[in-house]
Amino acid sequence: MARVAAEGPRAHRSLLLGCATRRPGYPGEMAPSTDQAMRELPVSDPTVAPENAIDVLRRVFGYDDFRGNQADIIRHVIDGGDALVLMPTGGGKSLCYQVPALVRAGTGVVISPLIALMQDQVDALSAVGARAAFLNSTQDAEERRRVEAAFVAGELDLLYLAPERLRVAATVDLLNRGTIALFAIDEAHCVSQWGHDFRPDYLQLSVLHERWPAVPRIALTATATETTHGEIARRLQLEDARHFVASFDRPNIQYRIVAKNDPKSQLLALIRAEHDGDAGIVYCLSRASVESTAQYLVDRGIAALPYHAGLPADVRAANQSRFLREDGMIMVATIAFGMGIDKPDVRFVAHLDLPKSVEGYYQETGRAGRDGLPSTAWLAYGLQDVVQQRRMIDQSEGDAEHRRRLGSHLDAMLALCETIQCRRMQLLAYFGETSSPCGNCDTCITPPQAWDGTVPAQKLLSTVVRLQRERGQKFGAGQSIDILLGRQTPKVTQNNHHSLSTFGIGTDLSEQEWRGIVRQLLAQGLLAVGSDGFGTLVLTAQSAAVLNGSRPVLLRREPERAPRASKRSSTQAAVSNLSGEALDLFERLRMWRAAQAREQGVPAYIVFGDATLRAIATSRPVSLEGLSAVSGVGENKLAKYGEALLQTLAE
Ligand code: ADP
Ligand code: ZN
Repeated sequence: MARVAAEGPRAHRSLLLGCATRRPGYPGEMAPSTDQAMRELPVSDPTVAPENAIDVLRRVFGYDDFRGNQADIIRHVIDGGDALVLMPTGGGKSLCYQVPALVRAGTGVVISPLIALMQDQVDALSAVGARAAFLNSTQDAEERRRVEAAFVAGELDLLYLAPERLRVAATVDLLNRGTIALFAIDEAHCVSQWGHDFRPDYLQLSVLHERWPAVPRIALTATATETTHGEIARRLQLEDARHFVASFDRPNIQYRIVAKNDPKSQLLALIRAEHDGDAGIVYCLSRASVESTAQYLVDRGIAALPYHAGLPADVRAANQSRFLREDGMIMVATIAFGMGIDKPDVRFVAHLDLPKSVEGYYQETGRAGRDGLPSTAWLAYGLQDVVQQRRMIDQSEGDAEHRRRLGSHLDAMLALCETIQCRRMQLLAYFGETSSPCGNCDTCITPPQAWDGTVPAQKLLSTVVRLQRERGQKFGAGQSIDILLGRQTPKVTQNNHHSLSTFGIGTDLSEQEWRGIVRQLLAQGLLAVGSDGFGTLVLTAQSAAVLNGSRPVLLRREPERAPRASKRSSTQAAVSNLSGEALDLFERLRMWRAAQAREQGVPAYIVFGDATLRAIATSRPVSLEGLSAVSGVGENKLAKYGEALLQTLAE
């Protein structure tokens, strides 16, 4: 049993703890109050977790050491402090409340918005021998009564609750009858009204603090901008909590952004060349493109499923479950999919449309490679994306301030797409972190060249000017490009555009190149999309400086070929540099795992993660003791699978 005798707060020498972890340049207002910063906290090195916590980590979870600031957070919560934890996806947030829940007396109550995933979370905890359960609307009365009785009797280490249950007086009464070790508020950004994950029920979670002031609260999120951070602290009354802000870097994810010309076949090429047989997520903006992209992949023999809010709930649930349980499944989805999906072996996240903000993009791409193994974040983006998004912003509901905010989110996203510097540096800078070139993004691997695009920019802008001034007309990008290329299309002839002085002056460049120029001028704010809803091009205040030659225009040259670090396919990421023999063994272990998972009806990663199987395949332990030394093999899994694993190894 995982239960660890809960010790009372041990007598320790006191120590004055410094201020909360902060990123460089983080505004002072987020610092904890002096009161909190000066709180007396026990013992020695604050970055080393108490012994009982390390013991739980090793025995229950089978890991050697805490990562990053896990130890620091866990110590703080075990000692009864409140915490607000900002950590990227895959950073290891779950242990930050699971370990204290196992160490402290009573049950850790976890508030999670993801009813559909509670079963998996409970299964994963049961697999390591922790006593976990959930209460939500999917259960019948009998089932609920059983869980409630176990909670009151002190037989649960962790209890998962949907936030709406706290609206019910009976739930509050129930919680009063048991002992609560801590409250964990997962996906805490759901309290933010600006994100797309807003859940009204999160607003009333401040009751936790009012009703149970002595119970420590730990709120966790992978959303990291200062605005969201401040909003979470305020709305959950966590201003006085210690704030732990981890680095948001995900070094195992390779970031790549390519010019979009034929997105479906570009995606197919990516999958075939580098991710054959891998699990992945493909994000599309609309339901229609989700459907057509999933069908396109299936027609080409690739296992793919659609997911969007327009599908019936049971189809959505079934597709999600297959994605989690089957190896190498691709989910084609709108952004409605992904929150809380803790499948660790998602090897790539592809975007076929431009995300609306860097924050959303980073969260979506962060779903790749939670297990720390090499993964790809790939985005195809084109002129049409910019036009479409500008149009959506112009037509969106809400006041001018709201539209201005959407516009600045889009600008930051465009700046990331068009940068000639390291993508990761720019991403991290967006979250307030400074870093140096990463060596694992497309711009680092194949540095793009900048070229002087002043003359082509002038040709394009003067075409737009002439249409407007001489003809009183506005057109989309396509017409300006046709004019520059001197094409006698029906639309050109009809409008007598071949008599414009810019007609045919751009034949030195291809249509593709012109589209790239329009896109980059839009991204740089030297050209804009009109607010008429037709995607027409108009000048901006900065255009004049380009036209009169006082402002040079630097453009990014599209790489001839999409850059690629190395070819690594299917499980290659997980098995890179495994010898032939270890590779065979790894494959055998995967087959063994798949059978186990099927038998128990749980996702394969709940049995063992790829990283653990890989370690077993390389170290080839011959005894239970040797097996227990492998990271990810805790006491419970050793007892359950040890013999079977040794047998598979011996075959
Ligand atoms: P998050 O919730 O922050 O996205 P998880 O809690 O799901 O991340 O952890 C991501 C992965 O890292 C999981 O597979 C988890 O088991 C593993 N992990 C977390 N902490 C450690 C650790 N200290 N040692 C080894 N593996 C860890
Ligand atoms: Zn880089």
